[in-house]
Amino acid sequence: MNIILLGAPGAGKGTQATRISEKFGLPHISTGDIFRDNIKRGTEIGLLAKSYTDKGQLVPDEVTCKIVEERLKAPDCKDGYLLDGFPRNLFQAQELDKFSKVDAVLNIDVDLSLLMARLCGRRVCKNCGESYHVDFLGGKADCERCGGELYQRKDDNEETVGNRLRVYNEQTAPLIEYYTKKGVLRSVNGVGDIEEVFARICEVLR
Ligand code: ADP
Ligand code: AMP
Repeated sequence: MNIILLGAPGAGKGTQATRISEKFGLPHISTGDIFRDNIKRGTEIGLLAKSYTDKGQLVPDEVTCKIVEERLKAPDCKDGYLLDGFPRNLFQAQELDKFSKVDAVLNIDVDLSLLMARLCGRRVCKNCGESYHVDFLGGKADCERCGGELYQRKDDNEETVGNRLRVYNEQTAPLIEYYTKKGVLRSVNGVGDIEEVFARICEVLR
């Protein structure tokens, strides 16, 4: 099954993707992770992406669509995939329709007023990418899953988060209507305990 995880920055896409990917055996493909990996390795794509991710703007469609099109050709995607953070605007959604079939779009719904605090308090594992929140870490500095070191993303600051939420409202939110019209959208309430949200997702995917 080809699944897209839709939702504002901080809605819990990455957190739920880890769990969905494990339970359903689907590769988790996050365009944000791909860009951060390229930035870390100092590739040409990374150099370009950094100037956009640092400001909370979208990396140009041409580059982003090409990366996803190539990634979906990999053998691990032949029985399905879980896309997180793509598509993020109408153009990307239309491009995706040209190179893949979307079976389900899971929209994780969280009131935007909650997202600033979620994102500014997020800590991410350098090793496996798992997300945590400072409020629930109890002072721990290591990843519960793999023991990796936790860090704060450069774009998880008030100014950049403000931009990212604006970009979401203007460019990504219209995809809710796009996929509703196609009859593939399923919305899940993303407020509540992480495992509670996961249970709602499993119910929808069943
Ligand atoms: P996204 O991938 O959609 O940007 P993340 O999964 O990284 O979002 O989650 C953003 C922040 O919110 C992280 O700090 C994460 O620990 C926290 N978070 C995720 N799910 C929940 C939830 N159900 N309730 C409260 N906080 C959550
Ligand atoms: P994320 O990890 O999903 O929060 O994404 C982090 C940043 O990567 C975003 O703010 C964008 O700059 C960039 N990015 C991720 N996915 C896309 C996409 N589909 N299109 C354009 N830029 C993206």
